[in-house]
Amino acid sequence: MKVLVDGEIVARSVVKVDMEDRGYQFGDGVYEVINIYDGVPFTLDEHIERLYRSAKEIGMSILFESDHLKQDIRKLIKENNMKKGGLYLQVTRGVAPRTHQYQKDISSKLIAYPLPYKEMAETRSSGVTAITEQDLRWLRCDIKSLNLLYNIMIKQKSYEQGAFEAILIRDGLVTEGTSSNVFIIKDGTIYTHPATNLILNGITRQKLLEVFLENGWTCKEQPFTTKELMEADEVFVTSTTSEVVPVISIDGKSINNGIPGSLTRKIQQAFSNTVKKETSSAVL
Ligand code: PMP
Repeated sequence: MKVLVDGEIVARSVVKVDMEDRGYQFGDGVYEVINIYDGVPFTLDEHIERLYRSAKEIGMSILFESDHLKQDIRKLIKENNMKKGGLYLQVTRGVAPRTHQYQKDISSKLIAYPLPYKEMAETRSSGVTAITEQDLRWLRCDIKSLNLLYNIMIKQKSYEQGAFEAILIRDGLVTEGTSSNVFIIKDGTIYTHPATNLILNGITRQKLLEVFLENGWTCKEQPFTTKELMEADEVFVTSTTSEVVPVISIDGKSINNGIPGSLTRKIQQAFSNTVKKETSSAVL
């Protein structure tokens, strides 16, 4: 495997992390996961834009211009002969003696590499189960930070219970999943939490909002309660690598009699069409 390290593409075997890298010690950094379809990075501009936004929000500068970084990513995809799957990209604040505070002049460290491909077709077609959990994360969930400790704790809990995802609840309202955005459908209207500091504004989420408009499906970006979640006609979660995944049971209670809903199916199809359209017209 080839890895992009600070603008250079090198073999996996030579990549080393310094023990004083602030990403390693503090989780002081930001990241993205971009999906590759047929060798083309989907919504690359949006992911790179969010990466720079996250970096800016934590007061960190990325050493490369975004156009340069996009070129490097395209090169990395080619050098790995990547046809599909996720591409992981992270930037840490850099290497410095371990103190919480830092000097502004340290150089951030960037790495990117292909993630192992996970086949999701079966999951998307049959739907998944989820649990609910309290959202006890910090109040800057809009930053795609390397600090994923609470997300990990709760994802592990759902995994150990055989569930695909844990849906997080803050003050009685559904925010998002541990690694996904959450949507419900009630009486033909789609609802999802607004893009505030309480959620990560998923790129899949943003793309879907466009898809809803194109198809004339009403979507309200407004918070909904746990009760509304449990009584929804259909529920689905979205993320870059899993796309649109129907949720057919939550905390042991069936949603839509335990089968993926018909509008969810249409949304999945419409999203796939958008991916095909955008990746086939992309100029590499
Ligand atoms: N929320 C959280 C907390 C996530 O980790 C993710 C996955 N990165 C998402 C939402 C979905 O975002 P995206 O569609 O950009 O992958």
